[in-house]
Amino acid sequence: PKALADSERVTPMMAQYIEIKAANPGSLLFYRMGDFYELFLDDAEIAARTLGIVLTKRGKHQGEDIPMCGVPVDRAEEYLHKLIAAGHRVAVCEQMEPPAEAKKRGPKSVVKRDVIRLVTPGTLTEDALLDARRENVLASLARVRGSGEEGDGYVYALAFADISTGSFRVAETDSTRLSADLARIEPAELLVADAVYEDAELRPLWRTLPAVTPLPKESFDGATAGRRIAGFFQVATLDSFGSFSRAELAAAAAIVAYIERTQLGARPPLGRPQREASTEAMIIDPATRANLEILRTTTGERMGSLCAAVDRTVTSAGARLLARRLAEPLTDPKRIAERLDAVECLVEETSLRAQLRDRLAGVPDLARALSRVALGRAGPRDLAAIGRGLKEGAAIAGLIADAPAPAELQAAARALGGVDPALAATLTAALDDELPLNRRDGGFIRAGYQDELDATRALRDESRRVVAALERRYVEETGVRALKIRHNAVLGYFVEVSQQNADRLREPPFDAIFMHRQTMAGAMRFTSTELAELEAKIASAGDRALALEQLLFDELVAAVTAETEAIRACAEALAVIDVTAGLAKLAVDENHVRPEVDNGLDFRIEGGRHPVVEQALRRDGGPFVANECELSPPEGARAGRIWLVTGPNMAGKSTFLRQNALIAILAQAGAFVPARLARIGVVDRLFSRVGAADDLARGRSTFMVEMVETAAILNQATERSLVILDEIGRGTATFDGLSIAWASLEHLHEANRCRGLFATHFHELTALSQRLPRLVNATVKVKEWEGEVIFLHEVVPGAADRSYGIQVAKLAGLPHAVVERARAVLTELESADRAAPTQRILDDLPLFAALNRAPPPAAAVKADPVAAAVKAALAGIDPDEMSPREALEALYRLKAAA
Ligand code: ADP
Repeated sequence: PKALADSERVTPMMAQYIEIKAANPGSLLFYRMGDFYELFLDDAEIAARTLGIVLTKRGKHQGEDIPMCGVPVDRAEEYLHKLIAAGHRVAVCEQMEPPAEAKKRGPKSVVKRDVIRLVTPGTLTEDALLDARRENVLASLARVRGSGEEGDGYVYALAFADISTGSFRVAETDSTRLSADLARIEPAELLVADAVYEDAELRPLWRTLPAVTPLPKESFDGATAGRRIAGFFQVATLDSFGSFSRAELAAAAAIVAYIERTQLGARPPLGRPQREASTEAMIIDPATRANLEILRTTTGERMGSLCAAVDRTVTSAGARLLARRLAEPLTDPKRIAERLDAVECLVEETSLRAQLRDRLAGVPDLARALSRVALGRAGPRDLAAIGRGLKEGAAIAGLIADAPAPAELQAAARALGGVDPALAATLTAALDDELPLNRRDGGFIRAGYQDELDATRALRDESRRVVAALERRYVEETGVRALKIRHNAVLGYFVEVSQQNADRLREPPFDAIFMHRQTMAGAMRFTSTELAELEAKIASAGDRALALEQLLFDELVAAVTAETEAIRACAEALAVIDVTAGLAKLAVDENHVRPEVDNGLDFRIEGGRHPVVEQALRRDGGPFVANECELSPPEGARAGRIWLVTGPNMAGKSTFLRQNALIAILAQAGAFVPARLARIGVVDRLFSRVGAADDLARGRSTFMVEMVETAAILNQATERSLVILDEIGRGTATFDGLSIAWASLEHLHEANRCRGLFATHFHELTALSQRLPRLVNATVKVKEWEGEVIFLHEVVPGAADRSYGIQVAKLAGLPHAVVERARAVLTELESADRAAPTQRILDDLPLFAALNRAPPPAAAVKADPVAAAVKAALAGIDPDEMSPREALEALYRLKAAA
């Protein structure tokens, strides 16, 4: 664009485009031209590619075609959505005056245009651009030099806001838990200072986020931060906001500045920043979140996640709050008990629960509607939504007030009563039942709300009646029974009589009233002053009605804006009630119990179930086998137990491990849990790892990932933590893996002293229980019947005697020849030293004999380098110790060698 700007032959419009484009670097420019937003030059190429729309040309610059593409204004949201989803930002540039105004300034003048909004992933408010059930969080990360020696010498703080709902929080963090905090917050967009963005240590983190926006360091300037925040909230000082650290202020100020920049003056109804203590939430790192599939499955879907399985909410705000609660389980038993009290109340009060849920189902998304109102992007439906929400809110408050509700529900009911009831009444009275999408369409104010509007509309709508009345009068006055008032586009309204009757109208006194306009074959047309006036009135009545409605709309917006804080509190309260009623419904439907959560170190689950697998099995017909888990400290011990779980593949080890982690999450989120009894000493950090998951995107080998993650656990787990390790050490050769698993287990038991579940294939580890007093062996029971295994899914004390790998392989459909050969090899191996397979197995290759129907003579085999390579490769393979994936990889290697 720069080169073009220097060109002399730039048209005025192009000059304007280039100037606006230069003022908004990093954004695609939606340049309004009539009914289209047009994109030019590089923007056009990017947009055409991303949106799959036609790239054309418009005019030339410096002798070159200008690439161009356009999107129709009335479909802009859809295209914005795609561009934002693809990681772009968009500056929306509107015409700031009617084209006629520009023409008045001269034939060459261009229409004034300005960017009215920057659309970025973290600053969306339109329903069409948002997922109703997910928050859309804009976060900022501030880093300031710390005084202490800890960590990397910096203090970090995160501020995060959802401008579509108005929540705003800040929290301190540090380099070790930063990734866990980001995974918890799940920002749609993260703001960081340039220097932080460039930091090599942090760079890998950025790749885990959908959008990271580096900003100049001034955005994070600590010296002006307080003033910037105070300015945004229109207060003189921040004293009443509570105390914030320097880093927290800088992070919050960056959010505020970015909102101001992207919304260009419009102010979203952001709540005051709430400070969050770093110990408030259970720490769950990204790998654990992914592994436990809390909010979505490892493949990214909501279906199949914990959240989907326990979500019985009926509003989108409720669904968002539930997701937030599951993403950050509490650590304070008192607050957890408050939530549980509320759920328990609604478990017991069956009819109250049903009534609440009925009412809630009619509650619209108050918070998001309110945000659009405050940002000047609201339509009539948003105002109506607020009116309806407030009305339902009042009814819901009444239901709770009449019930023996615990503190959490009462507080919510109080918040619902905080909005002036007159507002809901006004909105209901003012707004019609059927509403247009845009305020500009008019027709949304209810008849009877304002006399002037009613009269104006009557004039517009009843034009026929008014004209008919006039016609009747003219007939009477003139005595011409065939006189008609008609309308056409050229004359507008006119009086028409036949030729014979025309003379009557041209005589006194009527010649003073009727003016001749047109003579037709057999008819004559006249107008009158009265008719002309009526016509003008009718024509302007439409415009006037629309203008009156716009004024009334602004009044309603002002009335809503005056109650912003109270409405926001109301929206939050409704979400709390929805989540509580939903969890109560879940508990009743799914037979969940209230967990006991305290500050101890117990972890006792009786009759525990996996909430997701249980529901899935129910659909497929099978019963879920409930299991016990006892990790509480043994008599006299000051640390919890670790269970070492062995058992064949497919027995249910992973399910058992995960269900206990999920029960801890549910309990601390304040939900009832799928068990007969649960007693949990608050878990401060939850770790869950599964061996052997490739992370090719980050360019690390499977084994490396596993070790990095294991290292994080061994370095961070405390005695309050719950650690779940599923087959650690599988990513490497047998003895290496066993040794690492062995040493890790010892470390967890002796140094971390955490509660844990450790599933393994290394049966050798079961011997450790003789030496480690809090290590307990457990196994998943299977039955062998006529050479087949039957999985009982029952976790019992003791160690598995065999791994049944061959039976499982057979179930999986491995060719018969392979299964038979594997049995033979296994028998041989079991009678010999595992590390050095006997010569007999190596010499005897029945499988290959079977595959190559005519085996070459032995001598030829010896001479054949391929066969030798295959043989050598086979010698290094131990099928019994391989995962299916490793086996597949080995097969590929063999194929390559052949
Ligand atoms: P492992 O980790 O031992 O290989 P999984 O935990 O993956 O086994 O379980 C394998 C399958 O067994 C699951 O997909 C599930 O359908 C079933 N299963 C697991 N646990 C249970 C249970 N407690 N009751 C019923 N079915 C179960």
